[in-house]
Amino acid sequence: MMIDQILNMISDCSLAKTTGRFVSDKSYAYDTIYFMAKFILETADDENIFNKQLQRDRYIEYTKDIFQIRDLGSGAQNYMIETLNLLCFANLLVKQDNYNYKIAHKNILEYIAERIENAYIFLYLVVYQTFNNDDITDLYKKFISETSPAAKEAVLFDILSVFRNKSVSIGTIDTNWEKQLVKYALIVLGFANNSATVARTLRVKTHDGLIVPVSIKDISINVEGTRTGENSKKVNDYINFFAKDYVQNQLAPYMFINVPHVVVDTAINHIAEDLASLKIEKIIKETDETEYKSKYEQNQFIERKVRARNQNIQRAFKNSLLDHNAHRCPICGFEYEDFLIASHIKPYAQCDDTYDAINNFNGFLMCPNHDKLFEGAKLMTIDAKTGTIILSKQAQESKDFGYLHNTNIDKSLVECERRHYLAWHNAEFYRQNGKKC
Ligand SMILES: [Zn+2]
Repeated sequence: MMIDQILNMISDCSLAKTTGRFVSDKSYAYDTIYFMAKFILETADDENIFNKQLQRDRYIEYTKDIFQIRDLGSGAQNYMIETLNLLCFANLLVKQDNYNYKIAHKNILEYIAERIENAYIFLYLVVYQTFNNDDITDLYKKFISETSPAAKEAVLFDILSVFRNKSVSIGTIDTNWEKQLVKYALIVLGFANNSATVARTLRVKTHDGLIVPVSIKDISINVEGTRTGENSKKVNDYINFFAKDYVQNQLAPYMFINVPHVVVDTAINHIAEDLASLKIEKIIKETDETEYKSKYEQNQFIERKVRARNQNIQRAFKNSLLDHNAHRCPICGFEYEDFLIASHIKPYAQCDDTYDAINNFNGFLMCPNHDKLFEGAKLMTIDAKTGTIILSKQAQESKDFGYLHNTNIDKSLVECERRHYLAWHNAEFYRQNGKKC
């Protein structure tokens, strides 16, 4: 079984290990490990050697695209280097020299790249095994059983002192970095174990300069991109689809709490997979032109992939609307579910990122007629402040729907994040029809 193979591979992992590095900054984020695993598998040579120097530019492009980071600085390269370090620490990669890394267990790398949850499972096992080898598991158990923040913090400092005495890569003593290293490991264990991480050193600074506690759900410290500046925020909406049940089932024997077994659909089609595959294929195809007979074929290929991804996003969007809204058209009350359409307020093509594209607040479930009227903000819009239906001059004259003008939809539908998208729709409507409607 894969989990046994992973544990076997990392059986000697200890904080004192001199190769690679125990969870460090970006490498501790399971999503980074997931995307990097895909990238290594795709770009390693026939000998299973990954050359980081050779792939550097491609990787930066890939990361920028995946996380939609506008201004990277040295960020993307760090994502790569720190993940390589962690994979070396776990014996999954063996460093040959300054540039080349040999894949030692391809099947495990493939397992990680299979689904984003597997990357988390891998990371959890690395932390779990290291804690075991360094006798920190009892301290960790104590940490989660303590209830007051002060008591938790006291245990936290005991754990920190173990790190201090053993770790070869802890950074300068008494710096934030030193404490961060402990925090990362606790967040990894804490998420699956439903354990809140509290205490002063488990707080992070947001881009507004606010200090906020790291919440349980933030297994990737950058779930909301809050640690980085406005320009280098990481977009990772795919985390909303993370199947925690699947993770807890797989990890049940290595957990510190008892979690009831649940049946999980293991074949869910994940947006992260589509995203990673699409970006990798695009980047590889763009740079290895010789492999392709013609530009035409290449474009056909990419278009097909984009179409497939769009269908997947449309499906996710409709499910999100069905989950959060009454199953009826807000204009007329039409309820026949098979005919209801997931109608975007801000069209998918104009969304900044996948978050907007699948956000239920960026849409309504509408009957086919009203979906058509609303589409493209040409004939009809819904006032973002009042929920009043506004028709264009042309539409007001229609015997079929002119009567809708100046009627209202249920106000609760606009008293939420939806207002933000409707404001966009209103502006687009007035841009096309002029102010006098
Ligand atoms: Zn309707």
